[in-house]
Amino acid sequence: MVKRFVPKIYFDKDRCVKCGECAGICPEGAIEMAEYPEVDDSKCIRCYACYEVCEYNAVKIKQKALPL
Ligand code: SF4
Ligand code: SF4
Repeated sequence: MVKRFVPKIYFDKDRCVKCGECAGICPEGAIEMAEYPEVDDSKCIRCYACYEVCEYNAVKIKQKALPL
């Protein structure tokens, strides 16, 4: 099966201090603060503003395989 890979944002809960900076900077409103931040993948445009803003290195990017 052919797959394509898309970057996916996730959060390292061991590093996250729940400050909400990532949710505040996201231009698409794709991050919601529950106990920890959560991303709505359907809204995320992969701009990585959240990744850049997090001082705690808690925002991570992984390559997720999607079937075509
Ligand atoms: S900016 Fe970083 S530490 Fe703050 S809530 Fe987001 S992931 Fe957690
Ligand atoms: S990569 Fe950009 S659009 Fe996606 S969750 Fe982070 S700030 Fe929002």
